[in-house]
Amino acid sequence: MCGVFGVYLFDNYDIVDLIKLGLYDLQHRGQEAAGIAVLDQDTIACDTGLGLVTEVSAVKNWSRLSGRVAIGHTRYSTTGLNVIENASPMVVASPLGPIAISYNGNLVNPLETRRKLDDTDFLTTTDTEIIARDLVYHIHHGCNMVDAILALQHDLIGAYSLAILTQEGIWVTRDPYGIRPLSIGQSNQGIFVSSETCAFEGVNAEYIREVENGEILLIDSEGYTSFKGLQKRKAICIFEFIYIARPDSNICDKNLYLCREECGRCLAREHPPTGDIVVPMMNTALAAALGYGCETKCRTVAAHLKNRYHARRSFIQPNQDERQTTVAKSRIIGPVVKGLSLNLVEDSVVRATTTQKNVQACLKAGATDVDLLVASPPYRHPCFYGIDTAVFGDLAFNRFGGVEGIRSHIQARSLRFLSFEGLCQSIGLSPSEICAGCLTGEYPTEITDEARLGKMSLATCPR
Ligand code: SF4
Repeated sequence: MCGVFGVYLFDNYDIVDLIKLGLYDLQHRGQEAAGIAVLDQDTIACDTGLGLVTEVSAVKNWSRLSGRVAIGHTRYSTTGLNVIENASPMVVASPLGPIAISYNGNLVNPLETRRKLDDTDFLTTTDTEIIARDLVYHIHHGCNMVDAILALQHDLIGAYSLAILTQEGIWVTRDPYGIRPLSIGQSNQGIFVSSETCAFEGVNAEYIREVENGEILLIDSEGYTSFKGLQKRKAICIFEFIYIARPDSNICDKNLYLCREECGRCLAREHPPTGDIVVPMMNTALAAALGYGCETKCRTVAAHLKNRYHARRSFIQPNQDERQTTVAKSRIIGPVVKGLSLNLVEDSVVRATTTQKNVQACLKAGATDVDLLVASPPYRHPCFYGIDTAVFGDLAFNRFGGVEGIRSHIQARSLRFLSFEGLCQSIGLSPSEICAGCLTGEYPTEITDEARLGKMSLATCPR
């Protein structure tokens, strides 16, 4: 996941405050590290730290940074350890001056690219450094920024949405398929770039448009200028719609709350209720559950609570122990569910860690039965583009042997999923416009052996 944010200011406003506001609204995309890089005349001042934006900005003296152009980052580590060296933005030297990079995505051919660049020089284990060094390599060989980014697009396979801070301004690009989102917005203070549109409201900016797949944009004092990059078919990540992005964000000009609500309605038409009440799994399944309840006229009850003071999102915790601890911070209101059978609505089942705990909590709280309804199809294949969905065998569908195996493991009375057709219809996108690799096993890009070996156990890997 990861959150990318940046601004080019028209005047001397408080740039650190604006970047912080943007990163707060992208915190759900990465909770392990945060950072800021500000262009200060011909240098770039960069400051990063481990933790949430509030934690990092409290211990680091970001207010000493000043300038009119800056980028920021919140990190979720799919590649590379959660250590300070791997935090972003990352700054490198180049013949065009210093360059800072904020990146969201995951490369499918990182080792191959590292080897081409002489990997003895590398200081971190991140894709960001590979991208930075590849860019610098092309600049060293005489490319201007547009040509260097174009060459980068030819070198790299995978998902990448980038904000690149240089002395010219902020260069922005998405991979040729546009797998991860990236948009630009504007206020009377400046021009912004953000992983999600929800971050524009916090800085009083209006959404302008999405950066197109493969497009290269320069944001500078003139506004923004578009250059043609390497473009393939569009393939936005369907999991952004299901779970990752915030419901107040728009992707492909579609509001995510409304998409999720429609998924819930469609789920109801495909799988009518068999329990007494509808209960949403907070927070990401709320819209789907309300849609489900509305379509079925079944009473919907917010019986599942999440402790709002425990800020971290369980799915994006870096390891299973931390995920378990985070899951333990949710509760079921006993008197509300006691003696009733529940239509429990969930957005997705990936590892089933959260789902199993929640079903058990419902039964322990006095529910007679749990019928689990999932507002997306089964997650059956690893993601190679920035969602840390572990190895093939760790996914619940493979680990427990299909839908019936998951049902039995989580101890639900029934387990039913939204169909793939229903999902596409609800979101209003066709299979040719999305990446749904984790649901169908069909990925928009080539998947290299190095990526497969990293994600799958060879014994169970369907080639
Ligand atoms: S494989 Fe799944 S999670 Fe990964 S980018 Fe594609 S749709 Fe998104």
